[in-house]
Amino acid sequence: MDAYQIYALCYAGPLEGPGALTMWNRDWEARGQRAYYFWCLLGPGGPVVLDCGVGPQQAGERGLPGYLSPVELLARLGVEAAKVPHLVLSHLHWDHVGGAALFPAAQVHVQEAEWRFWNEDPVARRSVFQMLRDDQGLAALEAAQAQGRLRLHQGDAQLLPGLELIAAPGHAPGLMALRAAAAAGPAVLGSDCGHTYRNYAEDWPSAFICDLPAWLRSMQRLRGLVQRPELLFPGHDIALSRDFPEVAPGVTRLA
Ligand SMILES: [Zn+2]
Repeated sequence: MDAYQIYALCYAGPLEGPGALTMWNRDWEARGQRAYYFWCLLGPGGPVVLDCGVGPQQAGERGLPGYLSPVELLARLGVEAAKVPHLVLSHLHWDHVGGAALFPAAQVHVQEAEWRFWNEDPVARRSVFQMLRDDQGLAALEAAQAQGRLRLHQGDAQLLPGLELIAAPGHAPGLMALRAAAAAGPAVLGSDCGHTYRNYAEDWPSAFICDLPAWLRSMQRLRGLVQRPELLFPGHDIALSRDFPEVAPGVTRLA
């Protein structure tokens, strides 16, 4: 089977903040850096995009430095956002779902547990979750649903040959990762199941916890799905920009 090429697209950052943000209840005195990514896989099934960044208006409202349009970043890979056939959303926090309207032709893949939480559970309207919510992104998903483009998954699923959706809840009720056949072996884009490589290496989550026991089980599971820890990729680690070959400004090849 042909392998997928995996790219990280950095749409904002780097930003500096308290270390305790990415290492829960530790590193109170330390400072940590983070950046904002989405991912594109090129392979036999055509381009598949994991998460979608945010639009320019949302970037302005959130005060994101170094913002680049997801449409422009994908164009640097020769991919037209408006024609992308599959958009996988790891979870529905603002920084992962905000740009969903930029992909008007895509089948949009979401875990049903995640969809139901943000749309049906009253607790998702409370201020802690309101901070993570993006009504523009959720409205774009409702439009996708009305157009028959929303695919809700219950747990693991095969998306295409060599591409699997892996349920990994904890950071969010229905977080999912994407496992891809890459030339170097199976690779897992874990999104925010680990914000940084350190989260996986030290078995320690970030501060944004929804279900801690579930999260610890998910981290263990994702670590077990790769043959080498370097092939389990985190969601916000600046190493994704720093330690991999840059194929275009803001775009690095991970595998
Ligand atoms: Zn995130």
